[in-house]
Amino acid sequence: MKEHKKDSKYRVFCNYCPGYCCYRLPGATLYITATDINRIARHFNISDGEVRKRYIEGKNTFKVKADGSCIFLIDGRLNKRCGIHLASPQQCKDFPYDEACVYLYSEELLEIISPKVEASYRSSSLASVKR
Ligand code: SF4
Ligand code: SF4
Repeated sequence: MKEHKKDSKYRVFCNYCPGYCCYRLPGATLYITATDINRIARHFNISDGEVRKRYIEGKNTFKVKADGSCIFLIDGRLNKRCGIHLASPQQCKDFPYDEACVYLYSEELLEIISPKVEASYRSSSLASVKR
């Protein structure tokens, strides 16, 4: 999900993770900068204003889906779920910085987010079976 820095031994786990950090939780905020917005605008070939209109909530964070997941998180996958991987915000690229990712060892956080991940995967799998 992230653009890994070679010097961080922790970011390698992002490749195998369903993106626990991509769900909005109380007290956690994803800050989107003007530079991030411009990168996303160029990615979609639309204006910065259009990015703000379609994807930004308030001044500086992404809208989320009903389950609290980032608007760009792809359903039906258990890893590599970021729909704008190459253009993702700097905070997404940097997290969990140079520390072990708290989402991978906090039972409390995993208890909240894992059911959402499973529901997203199940609903998408069922939808593809019904087609
Ligand atoms: S929850 Fe942690 S390991 Fe998983 S994608 Fe986010 S930063 Fe990477
Ligand atoms: S932009 Fe991508 S990495 Fe960042 S929160 Fe959204 S889905 Fe996750």
